[in-house]
Amino acid sequence: MLLSELREHVLQANLELVRRGLVLYTFGNASGISRADGLVVIKPSGVPYEELKPEHMVITDLDGKIVEGNLRPSSDLPTHLVLYKAFSSIGGISHTHSEFAVAWAQAGRPIPCLGTTHADYFHGSVPVTEQLTSEEISSDYEKNTGHAIVRAFAELDAAAIPAVLVRSHASFTWGADPAAAAHNSVILEAVARMAYYTAGLVLKLEAIPSSLHDKHFLRKHGVKRYYGQESK
Ligand SMILES: [Zn+2]
Repeated sequence: MLLSELREHVLQANLELVRRGLVLYTFGNASGISRADGLVVIKPSGVPYEELKPEHMVITDLDGKIVEGNLRPSSDLPTHLVLYKAFSSIGGISHTHSEFAVAWAQAGRPIPCLGTTHADYFHGSVPVTEQLTSEEISSDYEKNTGHAIVRAFAELDAAAIPAVLVRSHASFTWGADPAAAAHNSVILEAVARMAYYTAGLVLKLEAIPSSLHDKHFLRKHGVKRYYGQESK
């Protein structure tokens, strides 16, 4: 079996989304990529999570051709592939319909950075894509969803803001590997919930000062990061 370790990591990332309450039924999907092999491992479409096993994961090339697996891959595979091609530093992608992130996506509003929880993970507002046109929806819908995400990042750094809201749909997040991508989905949902509550308390949302935003993001992710323990 190809890529047995990555299969397990992708399975665990998918299960983490369920454990954290981000997924209803079979909604949601996580994937991972082996850059060395040019192969993507993704959850199969529509299989109940409690039955998922590493061997059910589907392996495709970057054009979506199935290399190993008997099940159909997640229908969102083309979105994942566009993102892997466009964002060369990422190793995993996660997509859920978690409710507070969806609320912002449905409102068509980026999530502003209102506090340090957001600043720890996302170095800027979490952007929202433009609405897809009817042409983009009627053909290659999932691929065009990926292109809309890439357009939303034309002026942004996907490594510094590992999340996006797809207009009227839901979030995609990414990271260095499948576990990091799923982790970012969990954090995004928490940040979306906090921002939603804050929006109910004030007339006008105010982003935190950029000095505080930078402090929190860079102490965790910057060249001179000092948050947490040294990795070996
Ligand atoms: Zn979706």
